[in-house]
Amino acid sequence: MKLPDKYGKFGIFGGKFAPETLMSPLEELEKRYKETIKSGMFRKDLKYYLEVYAGRPTPLYFAKSFSEKIGARVYLKREDMAFTGAHKINNTIGQVLLAKYMKKTRVIAETGAGQHGVATATAAALFGLKCDVYMGEVDIKRQSLNVYRMKLLGSNVISVSSGTKTLKDAMNEAMRDWISSFERTHYVIGSVAGPHPYPMLVRNFQIVIGKETKKQLLKIEKKLPDYLVACVGGGSNSMGLFYPFENDRNVKFIGVEGGGKGLDTNLHSATLCKGSPGILHGSLSYVLQNKDGQIHPTHSISAGLDYPGVGPEHSFYKETGRAQYFAVNDNDALKAFHLLSETEGIIPALESAHAVSWVINNKEKFRQNDIIVINLSGRGDKDVQEVAEIEGTL
Ligand SMILES: *Cc1c(COP(=O)(O)O)cnc(C)c1O
Repeated sequence: MKLPDKYGKFGIFGGKFAPETLMSPLEELEKRYKETIKSGMFRKDLKYYLEVYAGRPTPLYFAKSFSEKIGARVYLKREDMAFTGAHKINNTIGQVLLAKYMKKTRVIAETGAGQHGVATATAAALFGLKCDVYMGEVDIKRQSLNVYRMKLLGSNVISVSSGTKTLKDAMNEAMRDWISSFERTHYVIGSVAGPHPYPMLVRNFQIVIGKETKKQLLKIEKKLPDYLVACVGGGSNSMGLFYPFENDRNVKFIGVEGGGKGLDTNLHSATLCKGSPGILHGSLSYVLQNKDGQIHPTHSISAGLDYPGVGPEHSFYKETGRAQYFAVNDNDALKAFHLLSETEGIIPALESAHAVSWVINNKEKFRQNDIIVINLSGRGDKDVQEVAEIEGTL
């Protein structure tokens, strides 16, 4: 059976744990989404913008030198070559185009480091919709360049000063806005999290990654991969890669979380490795929480992995054993950041470096002919300054 079911559930996970006032916008969105994606016109427009504007299909690159170091055949899915430098654009072009088809005149989004905010602002500029981005006060200070980028793109950034003044609070505020504005506003969620239908909808806009990978790999290798490896923050780039292989039972799915300073400390964002089922942002999934259900502060060297929740479909994959989840700590991610840069001339995003690192750390287990695809979710230019400061080279 295709999941989610009609209640938006993946097994016990997912659903719509939202206040009554959010039910009608969510129902409207589900209904209009299902109608719209059937339209040939919408599909044609989406394909056009993904190709001509965002630069798809992205290459599947055989990393020859890196493969020699690992002792297996390693391919990189180059989402870092998508326009704006990461996979997030796949989702925002899809959702903002959907908003336009739903005759909305405004979009809103939440953002942590600003990556999803910038991707939403880009799509809003492209399709001519007004855009307001909610961002925690602390994040605004930390990510001033992305705040400027959003403004440059014609968006408005709204500072959030509740709670920890970071991503989860920005998401709460965006939901509050949407409750009173949904007649003309669409809320663009940035990952496969949130209440139904978002985990399904965002997944469906990201599966272009896995579909392309399958086609490209079958053409080159004439067989399916042994491993698919991707980093997991909210879980969208990994779900986009995994999903088209769901029924190919010999393809192993590996999700890599932000291990921060180590899983024996409290400074990590390894939700699936160390969390427990709970409710956050309208859905039942693994959450980093204390015994009272209060959300733990998280840490990761990469801002994109620094989230205390995860998409419900990943929790389902974990429970059923379809995917395995591991954590890579900050130091190992940094080593992988260097190694890929030196061996292939590709500077990966710190998020993606976690996936690269898992492959390096496990090279003993691979056979020479194993085919491994790593999702290179984004490029590392955004992280270069931070890494230089951490390493004291600036
Ligand atoms: C946001 C981001 C991630 C994490 O988000 P997912 O929803 O887990 O994909 C990973 N890599 C990059 C480059 C990002 O910008």
